[in-house]
Amino acid sequence: MILEKIAVGAYAANCFIVGDEETRIGMVIDPGGEAERIYKKIEDLGLSIAYIVLTHAHGDHIGGVEKLKKLTSAPVLLHHDEEEMLKTPSLNLTQSMNGPTVAMTADRTIGEGEVLSVGGLKCKVIHTPGHTIGGICLYFDKEKILFSGDTLFYGSIGRTDLPGGSHKQLIQGILNKLMILEDQVAVYPGHGASSSIGFERKRNPFLQG
Ligand SMILES: [Zn+2]
Ligand SMILES: [Zn+2]
Repeated sequence: MILEKIAVGAYAANCFIVGDEETRIGMVIDPGGEAERIYKKIEDLGLSIAYIVLTHAHGDHIGGVEKLKKLTSAPVLLHHDEEEMLKTPSLNLTQSMNGPTVAMTADRTIGEGEVLSVGGLKCKVIHTPGHTIGGICLYFDKEKILFSGDTLFYGSIGRTDLPGGSHKQLIQGILNKLMILEDQVAVYPGHGASSSIGFERKRNPFLQG
């Protein structure tokens, strides 16, 4: 599996490029900005992009999505509860951020349990609301890799004080849907360092007791 992490934009959101080594088919998760830099990496890797998937529609994760869609011709996917936010600059916060506003329509919406094929790779959509109402994690079961968006961070969790946020929902989603995964599952959050389910289970202060 090809896996590249690029921190983009003023908020250093982690954009991930995932690809199947054999078919050279890939997907991009959260192109938060610097679309040309992401595209350059895609070209260097020789990947053909099947999807651009958004873990959620906050400005720091979608700043480069319109340009990257043009460059790759790939469809943009996000959870059906998050559509409104992608369309609305006051909700996706691009209105109050220091860049162009984003107001776009997803090419396809996805939901809990749906499986996306990326060449020979498969990832499952896990709906984890609480940071936003339609926030998702993406889980590659065979490779034991979880992309956790702004739901779960290294030693922390996403903020819940923005529109649609709920601390209770966020914690419940993490406990019921992520902490059921095995210890060795690697966690790649939407900001900062990577982690593992085992480490977060033991050490994340928000998940104890
Ligand atoms: Zn966010
Ligand atoms: Zn973020």
